[in-house]
Amino acid sequence: MRFSQLCDAYLELSQTAKRLEKTALIAALLKEVPDSDMAEVMMLLKGRVYPEWDKTQLGISSKLAIRAISMASGESETKIVQQFKKTGDIGQVCQQLLSKRKQSTLASSELSVKDVIKGMRKISTIEGSGSVDLKLRTIAHLLNNASPLEARFLIRILLEDLRIGIADGTIRDAIIQYALEKHGLHVIPADKPPKAEDSGVQTPAQEWRAAVQDAIDRSNDVAKVAVTARHEGLEGLRGIDLTIGVPIRVMLAQKETEVAAALTRVGTPAALEYKYDGFRMQVHRDKEGKITLFTRRLENVTDQFPDVVEFIKEVKVACILDCEAVGYDPKTGKYTAFQQISQRIRRKYDIDTLMKELPVELNVFDILYHENESVYLRPFEERRKLIEKIIPNRPGHIKPSDLLIAHAEAEVESFYKKSLAAGNEGIMLKTLAAPYKPGSRVGFMVKMKPVMDELDVVIVGAEWGEGKRSGWLTSFTIAVLDDDGNFVEIGRFGTGLKELEQEGGTTFSQVTDLLKDDILAEEGKEVRLKPNIVVEVKFEEIQRSPSYSSGFALRFPRFVRLRDDRRPEEISTLSDVMDAYEAQRGRNK
Ligand code: ATP
Repeated sequence: MRFSQLCDAYLELSQTAKRLEKTALIAALLKEVPDSDMAEVMMLLKGRVYPEWDKTQLGISSKLAIRAISMASGESETKIVQQFKKTGDIGQVCQQLLSKRKQSTLASSELSVKDVIKGMRKISTIEGSGSVDLKLRTIAHLLNNASPLEARFLIRILLEDLRIGIADGTIRDAIIQYALEKHGLHVIPADKPPKAEDSGVQTPAQEWRAAVQDAIDRSNDVAKVAVTARHEGLEGLRGIDLTIGVPIRVMLAQKETEVAAALTRVGTPAALEYKYDGFRMQVHRDKEGKITLFTRRLENVTDQFPDVVEFIKEVKVACILDCEAVGYDPKTGKYTAFQQISQRIRRKYDIDTLMKELPVELNVFDILYHENESVYLRPFEERRKLIEKIIPNRPGHIKPSDLLIAHAEAEVESFYKKSLAAGNEGIMLKTLAAPYKPGSRVGFMVKMKPVMDELDVVIVGAEWGEGKRSGWLTSFTIAVLDDDGNFVEIGRFGTGLKELEQEGGTTFSQVTDLLKDDILAEEGKEVRLKPNIVVEVKFEEIQRSPSYSSGFALRFPRFVRLRDDRRPEEISTLSDVMDAYEAQRGRNK
């Protein structure tokens, strides 16, 4: 497929904020995409050139992009910077400049979507001496082969800042709409998938909706789902199963602050488990004994955790497990804080030393696949029995998660206290009869922990410090996610970070290093950042506020910790903020 076709769609998509219109535009585009280009188009629609669980970054700064545009257009860098400051959109500046070129009478180029992915990946892998120069020439070459409109979007993709606001849900709805039209069914506006409770007779549209959503959840591959929907229809979609070795989006919990409300939500009797303060690990073991480990962000971390691989060798059957890896101090027999073990996720060298210094205990709390079949739809109770059957109980190494079946509030209260005393974050409550729902935040898994006034947010802006803080980014603008997948601002924090390493904790300098490559634009002391780094913040209160695009402001937000186990798409949402705002109003009454 030609890249120009996709760019026409980008343009139309960027001209509407309405989700239904975006859905229809993508559904129309899907008609034109050949099977063999579906994977590329799905990635590019999200502005990506690698699958979402691949953390490879293109690493192109706006400075380099400006030099490349200068090379391709013949315009001076100073002039480009000036125009960029005026419009705030480097892609548009690039388009305007290139449309003045002679050959730009051509409305499109010969670039295909495959060329774009290939070219971008090539740029990201250029290393070593002279690499900046080579990157520059490769980008300029790509721009020279592109039409002005294509160049606009190429630059945005290169800067990982596509800005057309397409949420995963919009892509799902577009596949549904496309499939319904393709199979000659009546199209009704896409809305939320049907809920289990209104399970009367499903209309064809509802059936398709459920089948597409489930197939996405199981395969985590929208391109495969779109192609299957095209050729094999409903039956084909239903036949897409979990594949050992392919990471699945995890099920997420809702939160409650009161025991009574939590129990009402999950039903009694309920399963109670410790909420360990570690990080989530999805374990895959195939029939031949090949073991693969993924984080919650679906990154492959098998090499970083040879200890966990050894534990899983003791599990003799093929399986997919959902677990929490918790830092464990063998001397004291106590759990250690998440902060300490989080470095194990990123470490690529001295792995054996780090493994000895910071051992983990693997707590298995769910199972999705067992021996030859998927078991994630079976009731929790049954899945738990399988866990107890196949997982050895070896505290300090690997074990089924600590669990109690509770019948009354008093039992929950005392389990909660016991869990906190053992150094855990809180407890999880689970519905005994419920299935596992990949990728959803569901009411049959509920978390309770003491401090609820915290959010996971992404940093979208900052300010260069002065005096002894000069050289560091200091005051940080933070954002949450709205329903359409846009990052909306909710406040600014400056506290919680340390000036000196000796003080313990994350420093301004560390955060500045992490953010440096994400700078999109600078004006005076202010910088605008690509939404990439996720942090947890605490705050005193949420207020309504016209100053931020979310319509809310956090009062006294302070940094708690980096959440590098979370993707920006997984941060707190505007509806979490609204819920917290309502809960706070309830408490203040
Ligand atoms: P938090 O920020 O509160 O750690 P989260 O937002 O990362 O939670 P949630 O789904 O909201 O994710 O909360 C559940 C998380 O708690 C899981 O992602 C998992 O990592 C962790 N966890 C710890 N113990 C358990 C357990 N026994 N069962 C399920 N999840 C557990």
